[in-house]
Amino acid sequence: MSCAARTLLSFTGILASCAAAKAAPEQPPAELSLELRLAENPLAVDLAFAFPGDADGETDVELAESWGGVGPERKDLEDLCVEGEDGRELALEVQGPHRWRARHAPGERLTVRARLPLNEVSFRAGFREHDFYRPILEPGLLHAIGHLFLPVPLHLPWTEPRAVELSYPGFAEAGWSVADSFGTGAGPRRVQASLGELRHALYLAGELDVYRPEEAPGLVVAVARHGFDFAGGDLADVAARILALERELMADPGGRHYLVSAIAVGQRAQRGLSYGGTGLTNAFALFLQPNADLALESESGLELRRLLAHEGFHEWNGVRLPLAPPEEPCYWFSEGFTDYFARRVLHQAGWLDDAAYAADLSRRLAEYHTSPAKNRDAADLGAAFWTDPAAQREPYLRGDVVACLLEAELARASGGERDLAAFMRGLLREASATGLPLDREQLLARIAEEAGDDVAAAIRRVVVDGETALLPADAFGADFALGERTVYAFDPGFDVDASIARHAAVGVRPAGPAALAGLAEGQAIRGFSIYNGDSERAIELTVMEDGDERALSFLPRGAALVVPAVSPVHGP
Ligand SMILES: [Zn+2]
Repeated sequence: MSCAARTLLSFTGILASCAAAKAAPEQPPAELSLELRLAENPLAVDLAFAFPGDADGETDVELAESWGGVGPERKDLEDLCVEGEDGRELALEVQGPHRWRARHAPGERLTVRARLPLNEVSFRAGFREHDFYRPILEPGLLHAIGHLFLPVPLHLPWTEPRAVELSYPGFAEAGWSVADSFGTGAGPRRVQASLGELRHALYLAGELDVYRPEEAPGLVVAVARHGFDFAGGDLADVAARILALERELMADPGGRHYLVSAIAVGQRAQRGLSYGGTGLTNAFALFLQPNADLALESESGLELRRLLAHEGFHEWNGVRLPLAPPEEPCYWFSEGFTDYFARRVLHQAGWLDDAAYAADLSRRLAEYHTSPAKNRDAADLGAAFWTDPAAQREPYLRGDVVACLLEAELARASGGERDLAAFMRGLLREASATGLPLDREQLLARIAEEAGDDVAAAIRRVVVDGETALLPADAFGADFALGERTVYAFDPGFDVDASIARHAAVGVRPAGPAALAGLAEGQAIRGFSIYNGDSERAIELTVMEDGDERALSFLPRGAALVVPAVSPVHGP
């Protein structure tokens, strides 16, 4: 895509749009109002959130105790107080580390105020995992996720849409651009949002490059300026291509506001790349190292695209097609089908050619067939999801393979007329007509209707009982053949984590891959290169032997297994 097709909004552009969005004076005040005021010298954001207090005269407000791996032992906001309608400060009873109670006249309008000061320690240097989910304020950047930033009242229904006024006084004056889950500009802006959506929202401001790619109307890509080696416009191009393809798959006209943000966290990586992202209300927040590389041929380029495609597809499979609680029994559908469509989008975008697409599918099939959780039943997996990594991974693998299976069976049942995307569009139409969330029985009933009772029964055995999913030989159509290959379980033959922690070989198994390569228990290790879980990439160690450094290299191959594999069919 050419650079001309994307639009970089200048600071003036933001100002012009916010002036146009100013609320008309005759409008009644919004039921909820959130003001974020930027103070300079010292830098701080003063938050004021106004809402109707509880009719019983007792209102509890809270921040999430824990969210996204950030625990209760934190203090980001200062000077929290609650005011009555006349501005008097109400006495607060502390109910917990992040929960307060105020007493007031029944139904009185209340305002909770708090101050977010400049971060004491820069989140960029030496941050712990997930610390960047905490509200960030530093020169040129506010990045706050509602769960850990916005104190909300507990008596108001969580999901009911309400009129909300959003305003950011002081930001435009300081030259900061504003982009949040509901729009752009310092406002005041009037939006419709539920309390749950406000809490699950992203509030972003600062020295940002803001893009509105023409290819995906409604998409806003906001990238922290000065943070990255890559050009922000390149991220905007990638996000736009993904969103446009997904909207096409789901026959969604689009146009709704959707924010993709990126801020730089941590130090420059010497090798490899760690990155994170989290889906929020109408938004996806990315956290990347400063030298993140978007180029397709880089190590991270394809995986970042996959992450964006996966998160983007949740807009349909998850948000517009919500799951009924408990959600775990349907994760094979919400996560596994989303992985399936993410890979399809990478293929359609041309980022995976046929050979790479087949290799990607084959890797997934191998991971499914070698997973220790492959045959665990749904009740067992659901209970273990939050504590056991193999159980957590299993619905992604199982659901992806079930998606492949269902795609083939839908084509068979309809004589090639219908595919899995059509099946998803049907579910979306139904959900928007009924407003009802999906559960496993409804899903299996729809599968029975469209692909037949036998297919639904077979899928039930996989997703409920943990039977191994078997794909028909023609599962991938005329262009791809299903065969077999031999893979090896990942087995380094020593305790990787303990050895890294002690800079010495720990848990070396006699006659294991490490021992056969010459690693001895207790031997000092100076350098590690390990691709965890990948039995096809050599482990390279720099060990000490008689005072000299010695390089060891070996494949971490355990037991051999024959698994299905996909290859492209070339030529006529
Ligand atoms: Zn997901």
